[in-house]
Amino acid sequence: MDNKVIKSKKIEQKIEDMVKYVIQGKESGMYVFEPNFSSAQCGTSIVGKQKVVMLTSNNYLGLATHPDVVDCSKKAITKYGTGTCGARLHNGTTNLHTELEEACANFFGTEAAVILSAGYLANLAAISSVADEETVIITDQFNHMSIVDGINMSNAQVRIFKHNDMNKLEYILKNNKEFKKKLIIVEGVYSMEGDIAPLEKVVELAEKYDASILVDEAHSFGFIGEKGQGVSELKGVGDRIHMRMTTFSKSLANVGGCIATDKKTALYIKHNAHQYIFNASMPPSAVAGTLQALKVMKEERWRREKLWENTLQFRRGIQKIGLNTMGSTSPVVPIYVGNDDINMKITKELLSEGVYIATAVFPSVPKNESRLRATITASLSGKEIDFALQKIEVIFRKHELIN
Ligand code: PMP
Repeated sequence: MDNKVIKSKKIEQKIEDMVKYVIQGKESGMYVFEPNFSSAQCGTSIVGKQKVVMLTSNNYLGLATHPDVVDCSKKAITKYGTGTCGARLHNGTTNLHTELEEACANFFGTEAAVILSAGYLANLAAISSVADEETVIITDQFNHMSIVDGINMSNAQVRIFKHNDMNKLEYILKNNKEFKKKLIIVEGVYSMEGDIAPLEKVVELAEKYDASILVDEAHSFGFIGEKGQGVSELKGVGDRIHMRMTTFSKSLANVGGCIATDKKTALYIKHNAHQYIFNASMPPSAVAGTLQALKVMKEERWRREKLWENTLQFRRGIQKIGLNTMGSTSPVVPIYVGNDDINMKITKELLSEGVYIATAVFPSVPKNESRLRATITASLSGKEIDFALQKIEVIFRKHELIN
């Protein structure tokens, strides 16, 4: 018998049509994705054998290599093994999982919290289980793909409002009164723009039109608001928000995500969200590391201060060079380029000069609005930032993107 793999011709064609662009990019040396790191996420990391200043890591507070965090993870592996080998409702809950849920609820000041194995899954779980065919979801144009996918998994109707445009949000709320349930979804800090949602206005409108709010605090958790709860705290509206989502993969330098909410909603999500019921739970080492990172985050406040100091140094430096940071007011600092090819060339050239900044192209951002997307961390030194600024200026000048 001929033991060749059996493949549908049509599926094979579809795959080939798409991958030819990836292969072309790799052959022309323009492929800028998946650099292979051979070190931890630090101010300077190693790609292959080359040292690079890291301007793309969500390790905002530099906790990925914190000795206490690492130690807690190691101890958890020794005690619980590498994985839970099951979903939460069956064998996937350890006392650590319960402790982390309590710690998250306590941190946000909510009655309860549900943790999932990824931030991505936390958004899917909350949105796809809470919204149904009687729901209209009103969502910001620039919401993250995990929100878009959560909406697509629900049976809800969707209305999209122009980024941060509160008049448009009100217009939609006013014109969709026939829906029994309304859910507004925004991000605290937008992941590709680095700007902040006008949450106080969102809350006012939600109250007026009887809507729930889900706010994704992935890029604000840990360093915005007095306690670090995010933009909902900064704007003084945390207690008005139905579901506050965050991920553990950024400030807490791990993997996993949570929805902080009231007890009944948490219980509802646990017994309805497929991402909770049909997915293996967070590994105990990740839970223990996250718990310890949460503790360190509260104790070592200097990390937040260093993060903001670095952010200001970088953003001001980029603006001084004459580049467009797209209204960012957070450690997410985009540098606008526009053209995809030039964007990728710049990323490649920067990398070979020892600076890593990821490329953001469609579908992460709208077509022809590509940008370099820097994320600043507390691990960077002033010197490393100056080095990067210098290289950025030289390369952008070479491409005639600076007047
Ligand atoms: N929400 C936002 C705004 C994000 O930027 C991300 C991660 N890029 C997620 C959710 C998903 O989080 P995770 O990568 O931890 O699954």
